[in-house]
Amino acid sequence: MGDDGLNRPKAIRPKAVCLCSGGMDSTVAATIAKGEGYEIYLFHVGYGQKAERKELEAVTRIARVLEARTMKAVHTDLFWNLSALTTAKAHLPVGDEVDIQNPSSTPPTWVCCRNLVLGSMAAAYAEAVGAEKVYVGFNAEEARSYPDNRPEFVERFNPLLEKSVASFSRPPVIEAPLISLFKSDIVSLGAKLGAPLELTWSCYLEGETHCGECEACQHRMRGFEEAGVVDPTGYR
Ligand SMILES: [Zn+2]
Repeated sequence: MGDDGLNRPKAIRPKAVCLCSGGMDSTVAATIAKGEGYEIYLFHVGYGQKAERKELEAVTRIARVLEARTMKAVHTDLFWNLSALTTAKAHLPVGDEVDIQNPSSTPPTWVCCRNLVLGSMAAAYAEAVGAEKVYVGFNAEEARSYPDNRPEFVERFNPLLEKSVASFSRPPVIEAPLISLFKSDIVSLGAKLGAPLELTWSCYLEGETHCGECEACQHRMRGFEEAGVVDPTGYR
């Protein structure tokens, strides 16, 4: 059988697709899905982000540790708006240029309609494998800058999914268990649940270690610090 879950004997456990970037948020969400009894299918999307290779390495290891049924990685391109995540032409703020207390509402790291596109791809995969949920790591920290992390996004997305699947399919439901949490809450919860935080990759860049300077690294460091959890990350 292929790795797409099709034509397999009926699973005893219900299935959930977990949209996983390899970062802490989506990894904690996937850990929750597993804890709730789902057979999990990790789904990673490369869209031209600078850290794609590191993310993929992380998701591959996370899938193994969480005993995912599969890890599906797909690639597309979402670089039309010249996001600082995808192109060297846009400046990626580092160090003092980042203010994590007052995040920008127009961050240079914005990727046009990212969660709409990635959520749709994950939902399509969920319909194909017969998964009833799509777990995502949307959270209150990201929602400060990115509107596609907010509850309103999920509330509008789910009714659309009901109208998006075949008549013989049960529409998958987007599940965002971290939607009201900030980074330190996510670290605390992840540590409590035994999520493999040490395997996650947050950095926007693809160095051998986390840069420690970009916005994602700064949020990660502060998250561990505020949660009072030992940070296993090696920073450059
Ligand atoms: Zn970084």
